[in-house]
Amino acid sequence: MTNITYRTYGGHPWIPQYVEAIDLDKCLGCGRCVKICSRGCLTLVSYVDEDDTERFIASIAAKDKCIGCQACGKTCVRNSYTFQPLEI
Ligand code: SF4
Ligand code: SF4
Repeated sequence: MTNITYRTYGGHPWIPQYVEAIDLDKCLGCGRCVKICSRGCLTLVSYVDEDDTERFIASIAAKDKCIGCQACGKTCVRNSYTFQPLEI
């Protein structure tokens, strides 16, 4: 198994890191990641905590559209995201 590798404009190898998961315990529901994703992969959804408190959290709505840019993770102040390369 090898990771899918593309090239930058300058010809350097680039391995996309695709969105894998969001840590719900860390997410504040600020929506920064949703706004920054140019592919429309992310959304905010209502979530009810164990103590019955309703809040918003980020959710992966369309993982199939992800290009592995990691912009969502870079903008998240809570470091909620994890990523994975795609193996072929
Ligand atoms: S940027 Fe981070 S804290 Fe804000 S909604 Fe996205 S995952 Fe949650
Ligand atoms: S890695 Fe890039 S394309 Fe994928 S969900 Fe995050 S911002 Fe969107």
